[in-house]
Amino acid sequence: MLRRVIPYLRPYKGLAIANNGCAILSLAFAMSYPALTRRIIDEVISGKRGDLLVPITLALVGAFAFRELFTSLRIRVNNIFEQGVIYDMRRDLFAHLQRLPVSYFDSRSSGDLLTRVIEDVNSLERVLIDGTEQGVVALLSIIGALIILTRTNGVLTLLCLAPLPILVGGALWYTLTAHRRYRAQRQASSAMNALLMDSLSGVRQIKAFGRQSHEDARFRDRAEDLRQGTLGVMKAWAYYSPAMAFAASTGTALVLGYGGHLVIEGQLRVGQLVEFLLYLSFFYEPVGRLHSLNQMIQSARAGGERVFDILDAAREPSDRTGRLPEVIRGDVRYEEVRFGYGPERVVLKGVSLHARPGEMIALVGPTGAGKSTLVNLLPGFYIASSGRITIDGHPIEQVELESLRQRISVVSQEPFLFNGTVRENILYGRLDATEEEMVEAARAANCHDFIERLPEGYDSRVGERGVKLSVGEKQRVSIARALLKNSPILILDEATASVDTATERLIQEALERLMQGKTTFVIAHRLSTIRRASQILVVRAGEIVERGTHDELMAIEGVYARLARIQNTTFIEESFEKLAGQI
Ligand code: ATP
Repeated sequence: MLRRVIPYLRPYKGLAIANNGCAILSLAFAMSYPALTRRIIDEVISGKRGDLLVPITLALVGAFAFRELFTSLRIRVNNIFEQGVIYDMRRDLFAHLQRLPVSYFDSRSSGDLLTRVIEDVNSLERVLIDGTEQGVVALLSIIGALIILTRTNGVLTLLCLAPLPILVGGALWYTLTAHRRYRAQRQASSAMNALLMDSLSGVRQIKAFGRQSHEDARFRDRAEDLRQGTLGVMKAWAYYSPAMAFAASTGTALVLGYGGHLVIEGQLRVGQLVEFLLYLSFFYEPVGRLHSLNQMIQSARAGGERVFDILDAAREPSDRTGRLPEVIRGDVRYEEVRFGYGPERVVLKGVSLHARPGEMIALVGPTGAGKSTLVNLLPGFYIASSGRITIDGHPIEQVELESLRQRISVVSQEPFLFNGTVRENILYGRLDATEEEMVEAARAANCHDFIERLPEGYDSRVGERGVKLSVGEKQRVSIARALLKNSPILILDEATASVDTATERLIQEALERLMQGKTTFVIAHRLSTIRRASQILVVRAGEIVERGTHDELMAIEGVYARLARIQNTTFIEESFEKLAGQI
């Protein structure tokens, strides 16, 4: 873990040195306190040197002032240092997360990832704040105190070291067992946050199904796991910390007992004993701090493990050097493409197709046939296990993903809008578009009028996932976004949700404009769309079983012809349902 964290500390070497320098200076001034106290007791009080009282007291005040001055500086430097490290780590984590393949997110919950980016990074932060400097200062303090103690009185020093084996043994037990408990606690926290995220996104469904009590129970279970996990961590600490403090105190008691005896015997002066006891606090107090630090380290180990688990996950390929030309025609070929979501989940079983520039390819087929999977390979969301996909003759697996995705727009069935303004959402298509270009795209997508009617026009906020807009409005905003992007290839997952006829007409018009001159793959649900397609590909169980235009497919009297003949249907799915079991 340390090896992984060190590169993050490296850029702040200067700050780390300054931080530790301030801590050492502050410690040095603090360490003058026992010596000055001894002088006051032995020289001033016992030796009746009233003239020394004021200078020594002033020296003590001065030492305290410098101690706090350097503490203040240390806190400031340390804050800058630690926040810098955490900022870098979060930035890297977010950048890395964004570059992970889609498949990574298929098997992880957003709540878990959120917990890792926020909470687990925080547990690393605690170690950085306290660890780097507390650890160094505590060690220095222990070493310094031991040197002074040995020089003051060797026998008393040996006595004060008597509890050391217990302290070391305790620390070892804690270190070896705490990690497991922290890991369980972090996992419980992730599980609770995952459920929380899920239920917040599904709040409408929860209400619609009246499942509040059910969700309460599920949340209680997760919160209970977290409570037990946290209590487990705290219980161990509740035993460990006081036990260690007690062991340390026995050392002080031994010193006091034997030291008292030496004073009675006249072998030690009172001031020397008090000095020894004060220096002893410079030994035991940092030992206690090292225990707290150990606790933080164990928590950070569990957190860091989860943070680096993300950073270790393989990114989407970034070593591709190929770039598509600035202007492409949009000629797309799939050659014997096979793909599976796992060895047992083979979805595409050797698909070949050729979409010529400007053609509209309609993909139809029963649910789960592999239509979405087929189009998801084109922008490289998933990588084909064999076969080849080319755009204008360039194999896509050699093309830089950014260059590839710039040429492809995806408009999905349930458009996702970001929680921002309408303007920001449209500009997402092309960040440097001018106001005129944006409004032009909105007009072409038939959404300018309704946007103008919103209370704040283009600056109206759409809410999370665009909840403040109707389905039809969201669709048109997402079409405007794609229009602004204006890429030569378009993937369109046609909406199955029925909207009123007027809205449907507006959406259809917008889509017509969007598709103009573009090679379009439509996962088609409407028979009206399918009939106009240049090619219809009927996908079944991962294979293209029929292909051709509407007329050609009607002529061969296959599956498509039977589907298309079903009367009174708008959506192809209705035909599939009516023919269920027969095709
Ligand atoms: P629909 O019309 O219902 O959207 P589809 O034809 O688009 O269906 P796909 O979404 O491509 O079908 O799914 C094909 C198969 O792959 C299904 O059996 C589905 O369960 C599986 N599948 C889809 N996405 C994933 C995924 N991310 N991980 C694992 N399996 C998946």
